[in-house]
Amino acid sequence: MNIVSFLKNPMSYIKSVPAHIQWTSFGARYLTPKLKSVQIEPTNACHLRCEMCTSQVIDKESLTAKKGIMDVGLFERIIDQSSELGVQAIGLNYSGEPLIHPEFKRMLKYAESKKAFSIGFNTSADKLVSDIQDVVVEHCAGIGISMEGFQETHEKIRRGSSYDVVSSHVQELIDKRKSRNQTTPHVKLNLTKSSQTEEETKSFIDHWSQIVDCVQVNECYNSDYSLKVSFNEDSKDTVKSGRLLCHEPWHYMAILWDGRVTICCNDLRQHGLKGLNANDMSIRDIWRSSVYKSVRLSQTNRQYTDPEFCKNCDEWVKHHVNIESQKNGYRTVNNGTNMRFYRAENGAQIAPEVLERSSLI
Ligand code: SF4
Repeated sequence: MNIVSFLKNPMSYIKSVPAHIQWTSFGARYLTPKLKSVQIEPTNACHLRCEMCTSQVIDKESLTAKKGIMDVGLFERIIDQSSELGVQAIGLNYSGEPLIHPEFKRMLKYAESKKAFSIGFNTSADKLVSDIQDVVVEHCAGIGISMEGFQETHEKIRRGSSYDVVSSHVQELIDKRKSRNQTTPHVKLNLTKSSQTEEETKSFIDHWSQIVDCVQVNECYNSDYSLKVSFNEDSKDTVKSGRLLCHEPWHYMAILWDGRVTICCNDLRQHGLKGLNANDMSIRDIWRSSVYKSVRLSQTNRQYTDPEFCKNCDEWVKHHVNIESQKNGYRTVNNGTNMRFYRAENGAQIAPEVLERSSLI
């Protein structure tokens, strides 16, 4: 490096600093990584009472999580600022059921009107009625739908949900996508691993993988934030061999319905990051704030105590396990905290960029 040209334009050198320097304490202190993915919570309310849901943790511990819906003005400001920052993916859900928000379609259309993001969301699909399916097929890169096995098991775990309604909404969505000759939205079914779903997991994957693009089996969390890692031997071994850096604070931000900001989807008790609120600060300032720097430093200094809920969390493992294999007619992808099953023949038809986008949901 020529010292004169560095002094003339230091930023051009800082921008070309090798990516791995960002993961050091120097990088955490002095560099701002690129914010790639913003998750926005339209509402934390839900019409269901699923056994394993994070809101059950809040209920059990008598924590108060005031329910509400996001102001559309705030949502639009977040979208505008995210677009200016070059954010690549927007996720439209956090802890509640996003389709409960009365302006959900408007919000989705507004986000898509920027032509800047891949947009996706997770839903229980009970409320994924025909007119919402139309908007989803037109504007979304991916959708994740939660199901917990076949009828009896699903309805026992997802209290208040109807297997028949969800199944018919999934099929209608796939039919609409086909009728438009599209490969998007990428449709993924999410099943949470539990003793109740264990018995029918294989037949569930066999059945649904013929209809949707991917079936994903997710590990469940203990209320101390650690994972109940048992499905996934590779993750178990990685967790045992010692803690590694979690990438979330380097690329991801979640904004709750009331504007509070949190670091990842593992903030089960919705503490948020102290002092940060999208009502009072721009996304850029939040991302560059001393609060965020301190979180990154806690990782690079191997403390993992900021925020406090990082301490026992095993979710970091997902950034260090990524194993693909072909077995029994499936292409499987082990992402550390989940296992994805693609029909080998279907998987080949899905464009890599679609898979990449859908993995950001
Ligand atoms: S270690 Fe866990 S709690 Fe901490 S940022 Fe990563 S996912 Fe979130």
